[in-house]
Amino acid sequence: MLVFTLALLLIVASTTMTFVDAWIASTNTAARRISLPTTTITTALKMSAVNETMAKPRSSASLPDFGTTTIEVDKIKLEKKRRKKKADGYDTKVGMDKKEPEQKENKWRRSDLFGSSLVDQTMDELKNDKDFQSTQKRIAKVGLAGMSKEERTQRRRALDKLNVQPFAKFLTEQMNGQAKTSGEDSSAAATTSTTKTDDGSEPSSVAVAPKPKRVKPYILKRKAPTILQINIGLYCNQACGHCHVESSPLRTTEMMTAETAAQCLELLKNTPSIDTLDITGGAPELNAHFRYLVSMARVIRGKDLTIIDRCNLTVLQEPGQEDLVDFLKDQDVHVIASLPCYSAENVDTQRGGGVFERSIAALLALNEAGYGRKREESDHGSRLQLDLVYNPLGAFLPPPQEKLQVQYQEQLAENFGILFDQLYTITNMPIKRFADFLHRRGELSEYMDLLVRNFNPDTVEELMCLNTINVGWDGKIYDCDFNQQLGYNVGVDSIHRGGKTVFDIDSLDELRDIRIRTDNHCFGCTAGMGSS
Ligand code: SF4
Ligand code: SF4
Repeated sequence: MLVFTLALLLIVASTTMTFVDAWIASTNTAARRISLPTTTITTALKMSAVNETMAKPRSSASLPDFGTTTIEVDKIKLEKKRRKKKADGYDTKVGMDKKEPEQKENKWRRSDLFGSSLVDQTMDELKNDKDFQSTQKRIAKVGLAGMSKEERTQRRRALDKLNVQPFAKFLTEQMNGQAKTSGEDSSAAATTSTTKTDDGSEPSSVAVAPKPKRVKPYILKRKAPTILQINIGLYCNQACGHCHVESSPLRTTEMMTAETAAQCLELLKNTPSIDTLDITGGAPELNAHFRYLVSMARVIRGKDLTIIDRCNLTVLQEPGQEDLVDFLKDQDVHVIASLPCYSAENVDTQRGGGVFERSIAALLALNEAGYGRKREESDHGSRLQLDLVYNPLGAFLPPPQEKLQVQYQEQLAENFGILFDQLYTITNMPIKRFADFLHRRGELSEYMDLLVRNFNPDTVEELMCLNTINVGWDGKIYDCDFNQQLGYNVGVDSIHRGGKTVFDIDSLDELRDIRIRTDNHCFGCTAGMGSS
């Protein structure tokens, strides 16, 4: 079957790719409905896993909510649970107050889970999830684009309540300084002028209203693209409560084809400045062309290309993926995996019943293959980098990344014997399922306030959209994965109605002069330590 699939892919690829001849082819007030320990509440240290590796240090000194969120993230609870917990022989308290050093490796090394799907369980949960069902009904009525518009209006209303300008104006004001945009300087400098009177009497002094100074808009300018991020499909075996792409097992049709994947590879080949291929989804590994994309990218650009797999961990156990760890290892793929807590209860609340135990089993399997260990310990000289991503359970910003990383390292090592390289903390973007979550709980305004209040100018030069090109499952091009989900295409003009696609260009360099499309969701990227 595999041979047949590969052969088929090669046939499709050979008809579509010009270069492929053979095997060529990712506050305080906002947190009031969350039970937090007394020291807890918001903060921001957030950063995309991609940008983090190249980001310059950012200043947090002037951010009002920085450093106040507890690093004991297992103590942070949602009052209202959205997900049921798996019971029967599954200790949801693990990672909270129990340490089981004696059994840590054996108990959690669950080879029996490999080959068993999470999809049926996810579907059962979704059937009983009233919020999910009501969102599905709304999508059926107004469509995904209509939902994006409604969300945008809700964010705008929330910002209006706070008297906050549109993002572009806010950015200009912040980057240029308040005085320049408010005109306070010039009004203070009101002058007099001497004019002749109409009847020819002595001239008198007349107050002249100052002309407001023209403020140059602060424009985000693209740099040479270094990251090609491809969202190869929205299908996922999970349906997490915060998912910004609204993935679930129901998204079966939005999957990248071999032809589109081949064109992405063509662009990779023709854009030498790209040093990172970042593959995301959904669960990207469940797209039939995932391995083709990875293998061919490695052939085309060799070992110097960093290939990232945004992995949800449980995918490693899906039927047909039993050899996925070996494939990732063989291709030296950098795995960036979501694990929003080191406690079962919090992970399952956010990501679905039983996701925690499956995630731990997956991490142990990755460790066993050499992932998450230092380079010198690796048996075949490849990097085998394993990074984890923390995102908050609710409407608050993450704790400081470095401190939380130490907490994760201790908890995961002590309770489960798990090693990893780096932890990234990211802020939930107020879009899609998380926007829905905030809106339902009446917390959108508070969350937007939190983001605005913690605007950090140091994040601006590090925004993902400056050096990343994002491609959707259908080949459409975007500034970032967030813009993709909101339908803000790159290069909308009279020719490319609906935006440019990978088939409209020969190299990603051609997108250099196209303006980045920002909007009110972008406050999520400039708060605290950055989000994108
Ligand atoms: S957050 Fe990731 S794992 Fe969860 S539903 Fe979305 S794509 Fe799937
Ligand atoms: S959400 Fe806005 S600021 Fe963030 S990466 Fe996308 S375009 Fe840039």
